[in-house]
Amino acid sequence: MVGTPYRIVIGLEVHVQLLTRTKLFCGCSTQFGLPPNSATCPVCTGLPGTLPVLNRRAFELALRAALALNGEIARFTKWDRKNYYYPDLPKNYQISQYDLPFSKDGWLEIDTTAGPKRIGIIRAHLEEDAGKMLHDEKGGGRDSLVDLNRTGTPLLEIVSRPEISSPDEAKAYLEEVRLLLREIGVSDCEMQEGSLRCDANINLQWQRRRHAHCRGQKPQQYPRRRPGPGVRSGPPLSKVPGGRQETRRGAQGDARLGRGPRHDAGATAQGGGSRLSLLP
Ligand SMILES: [Zn+2]
Repeated sequence: MVGTPYRIVIGLEVHVQLLTRTKLFCGCSTQFGLPPNSATCPVCTGLPGTLPVLNRRAFELALRAALALNGEIARFTKWDRKNYYYPDLPKNYQISQYDLPFSKDGWLEIDTTAGPKRIGIIRAHLEEDAGKMLHDEKGGGRDSLVDLNRTGTPLLEIVSRPEISSPDEAKAYLEEVRLLLREIGVSDCEMQEGSLRCDANINLQWQRRRHAHCRGQKPQQYPRRRPGPGVRSGPPLSKVPGGRQETRRGAQGDARLGRGPRHDAGATAQGGGSRLSLLP
């Protein structure tokens, strides 16, 4: 970013709902706005003895999207169960793709003020959505309602490389993804209906010396921040157990969601999060 001592590194993880009439592994409707819990069955609620059967249309749409994103299509792919508990996930696991996604190494070109720029795409994979929680925020927060109509809805997850360098580029990337997927009929990308969602991993890298040098100044000396009484300094983020350089939030997210490091868009920004620990 011009005029600031920071370099910004952004990775985006986009979820789009595929334009299918039925869910990813059962025949329940994906129509938006149905009465709560009316579009459910033993398969998408995970009752014992049921087996998922893949929606062919969902796979064809995902394949079309991956090709449009210039992705490499795998010769072999498989499904995994990502186990975690949440009230809107009745099975206690999500069927997703972990180490062998059906597509990887794509790219998308966006327009920037400096001209066209390619943003790499680490992977695109299929997975099922969870349900929806409705929290009572007016009546004292005493009630939470669960609607399982979304459970099992087919999603395409697109994980970018951490090659987005500004909020404007992030906006351009999302607009390009939305335009492309709508144009080829893969998704309606209606954000109000949850058909397009985005998680952003943002790293700010402190560039004090370069910034000072650019302005022809001596590097400014900043006072060291001292911890308050009873506060122990933690280890620098680069020393987070596990040896990888990543943000604490990323590390916790990985553990909670049972994800490998490659799934987290910004986690691959080498040195990105760790350098935050160098702030004075
Ligand atoms: Zn169902």
